[in-house]
Amino acid sequence: MPPTDTPGDTPADKPADKPADKPADKNDAKPGAPLADRVDVVVIGAGPAGLMAARALRERGVDFAVIDKKSCIGLPLACGEGVLLHEIEGLGLDFDLHEYGTLSRRQVFVYGALQKRFSIDTFELNRPAFERALAEPVLPQLRLDTRLLDVTETPEAVFVKTSDGTIRARMAILAKGPDDKLPRKLGMTSRRHEMVVAYGGRYEGCDLPDLTWRIDLLDGFGTLNYFWIFPYTATKANVGLGYLNRPGLGINLRREFERVAATQPSLRGARMTLEVGGSIPVSGALDRTFTDRLLACGDFAGHVGALGDGIYYAMAGGKLAGEIAAGAVKRGEFGRDALRVYETRWRAQFGGPLKAGIAFRNILDRAVRAGVALALVRLIPAPLGPAILFDGKLRRTLGLVDRLLPRLPV
Ligand SMILES: Cc1cc2nc3c(=O)[nH]c(=O)nc-3n(C[C@H](O)[C@H](O)[C@H](O)COP(=O)(O)OP(=O)(O)OC[C@H]3O[C@@H](n4cnc5c(N)ncnc54)[C@H](O)[C@@H]3O)c2cc1C
Repeated sequence: MPPTDTPGDTPADKPADKPADKPADKNDAKPGAPLADRVDVVVIGAGPAGLMAARALRERGVDFAVIDKKSCIGLPLACGEGVLLHEIEGLGLDFDLHEYGTLSRRQVFVYGALQKRFSIDTFELNRPAFERALAEPVLPQLRLDTRLLDVTETPEAVFVKTSDGTIRARMAILAKGPDDKLPRKLGMTSRRHEMVVAYGGRYEGCDLPDLTWRIDLLDGFGTLNYFWIFPYTATKANVGLGYLNRPGLGINLRREFERVAATQPSLRGARMTLEVGGSIPVSGALDRTFTDRLLACGDFAGHVGALGDGIYYAMAGGKLAGEIAAGAVKRGEFGRDALRVYETRWRAQFGGPLKAGIAFRNILDRAVRAGVALALVRLIPAPLGPAILFDGKLRRTLGLVDRLLPRLPV
């Protein structure tokens, strides 16, 4: 497999040639509801966003279908699997989250010789198993191996063309992950997403006795980057390298990942058991996340934090999209004026942290490119980074700095 430097050509799209981790074993259930040609709502994509939307539709008794191109829920794995426990718990899931991950309260941010320690409730998910638990209640409506080919809206309906026929629906929820073309075709944005590209894997045989999460900012990339080690146990971790992609960087991601991994004492003698990789849209939300009969959520909508942390946003946005779609179907009220409330509500729930994180990331990226990141990182008190990224602190100040900086010659 060639190393990847292009968002569209990700290792996650291809099967790993290494033995798969255990979570894959139980993942052989292939729900296959016959594809209805008419439903009230079609959910496109069965990741965290689509599954939360589907759950909300089910709870409200709406007739819906979920389609996904993949053959197994949760795989291939394109994720570092790290979340904040309190964020996911705040979504009110009906199963015990602790069965699907490991809590850690020790984190270290490393930049060269500089180490910043902080303590938050980071939680390392077993994402394939977690997604199967999310999917459980909606399995009868879930159709795998079914690829979206096109979406067309008319005043009366939305037509979802798939590899297995066309579904006519009253609404559709777009939760198919990163997509650079469809949002523009549907008039939801005029911009392309900026992408972080990332590669790594699950490792066994690590030496991580105190379960400390580690995030390194690396020199020499000429762009914002991060190398992560997120432990599941003292001997297992999710490890990866991501960087903000821009034309002409010429980075060989897989080779760089292997080079950096080889320098980590905690990975000495460890081996990769499952390959992980993919692209993450990190430039913020689409200009509009609704049309007359469509709602966009998750990565598709650009609901991703500044460093590519998208699981919580996907779940929160997906849940809201399902709730709003159910209300619209029950009242028979569609159109932009009826669906605008979706955007108002997600902005109120997590729009602030998204904005603050992106401003922070832009500033850090400029500092990396200008060679002054060390000074900036030194200045930032350790807990402030997570407070900005996850709680949206200093939003106004950062926004102002972010707007002023491009005027300086960097
Ligand atoms: C390498 C990497 C590491 C990451 N690490 C973290 C992390 O540690 N923490 C975190 O919070 N986030 C992380 N993220 C981001 C996180 O994985 C995403 O933000 C999250 O998965 C978004 O969920 P989603 O449901 O919107 O999209 P996805 O999880 O991408 O789900 C979309 C679904 O749509 C399906 N689909 C796509 N195209 C079609 C089609 N044409 N037809 C039908 N179905 C289709 C896909 O098969 C997929 O199942 C990482 C991402 C990557 C790539």
